[in-house]
Amino acid sequence: MYIVNIESHLKLSIMNQLKLGWVGLGNMGNPMVLNLLNAGYEITVFNRTREKEKSLLSAGTKSASNLAELIKNCDVVFTMLSNDAAVKEVFESSVGLLNANNQGKTIINMSTVSPETSRYLHTICKQHQVNFIDAPVSGSVKPAQDGTLVILVGASNENFELAKPLFDVLGKIAIHVGEPGIASSAKLAINYLLGLNLQGLAETVLFAEKNGVSKEDMLNIINQGACGNGITNIKTPSIINNSFPAAFALKHLVKDLRLAKEAGLDSPLIHPLYDSYVRAEKEGLGDQDVMAIISSLHNKAD
Ligand code: NAP
Repeated sequence: MYIVNIESHLKLSIMNQLKLGWVGLGNMGNPMVLNLLNAGYEITVFNRTREKEKSLLSAGTKSASNLAELIKNCDVVFTMLSNDAAVKEVFESSVGLLNANNQGKTIINMSTVSPETSRYLHTICKQHQVNFIDAPVSGSVKPAQDGTLVILVGASNENFELAKPLFDVLGKIAIHVGEPGIASSAKLAINYLLGLNLQGLAETVLFAEKNGVSKEDMLNIINQGACGNGITNIKTPSIINNSFPAAFALKHLVKDLRLAKEAGLDSPLIHPLYDSYVRAEKEGLGDQDVMAIISSLHNKAD
């Protein structure tokens, strides 16, 4: 027992000597960086819009003047960016992460991208002798703040073991599902279920309201019974207050449903579901939280 404790202490102190880098300080990246900082890691950040780095610099992170400098000074670099195009640009552009001498470094992409893009990033990283880990997350801003994300990992066994202590800071569990690409497939599948849940929740509340049941009562019925779940509970206050500041922007779910379709999802519900979220985005709700789907459906019912 004593030996095990010494070993884990040693492992922790070796891990804490790893220099970390982070690209992408949006709704998710920001709190995730803070958790790594608070766990004792040295961490250097880079965000395209540089002002967004300010609060983290005050909290104690370092900043790099460009991506090449960031990766040069770090052992492990995380990316948490909007979409496939943003991630590819950050990896591949003439001033990107792979445009420097990076042999032996590790890049962990936690953004939601297509399985195809993850496999592609894996291939180009291999060509540069860089380790690549595909690690999208399930859970939104609150779990990101609380360090309770569910992390889906596509990586070799060796890379998974390397990154596991970092994932333990960011999430409540890291599930190793296979090689890079598989985790992105798992992420698209769970976000399909998320989209179904929120569309179903919105339709149910609106149907009940139209027939005289207040949204407060209907949400109480849902959350007290077997149909309530984590996401119905999380989204209840925003429905009651009719206020949808983005935790998970609706435009990102549109992207994920599109990626799921492109990856072969052809089930009865994906098509109307996708159309519904696309319509909401076209109505100008893309930068609002995904639960703003209820505003779009409400307008349609009027
Ligand atoms: P977000 O708030 O929209 O932030 C996006 C980040 O990407 C920003 O830092 C943005 O930089 C950067 N970016 C976009 N295009 C770029 C480009 N071409 N080059 C460099 N940087 C670029 O997004 P988020 O909510 O943090 O989500 C990030 C990823 O996690 C997405 O793939 C999303 O699907 C996924 N995800 C989100 C949630 C959630 O609840 N929010 C949950 C699970 C997974 P600027 O500041 O310069 O715009």
